Amino acid sequence: MKFELPAMSGFDGIEIRDWMGGPVRDLFSIYIKTSMDMLRSAQGLEGSTLREVGQIARVQQAFMASINAMMSASGSSCTLDSPPEAINLTTDSDGNLVLRCEHDPCHEWDLDGTKI
Ligand SMILES: [Zn+2]
Repeated sequence: MKFELPAMSGFDGIEIRDWMGGPVRDLFSIYIKTSMDMLRSAQGLEGSTLREVGQIARVQQAFMASINAMMSASGSSCTLDSPPEAINLTTDSDGNLVLRCEHDPCHEWDLDGTKI
């Protein structure tokens, strides 16, 4: 089964539990999409002062923690290997936001759903 949330409709290999139906699924989708949009725009800010950068970093940490909690609660998992493993929003070595599963070796997606 493919991940059906509109916010992540292009994410091949990601799946969530079937019980995430109807309103819960819609709310989850809106929350993820809004949070990711905010993170993207925060990362795109130019000319920020050091203080602002620190605030943005803290907001990003808070969003990442809440998104990861939502993904965990929804049973989001990577099905590209067996058994399925959890997926977390994290940053790569360049500081870009990525979704990364707990497989070894891991699978990664950027926030547009492109597999890295
Ligand atoms: Zn994986």
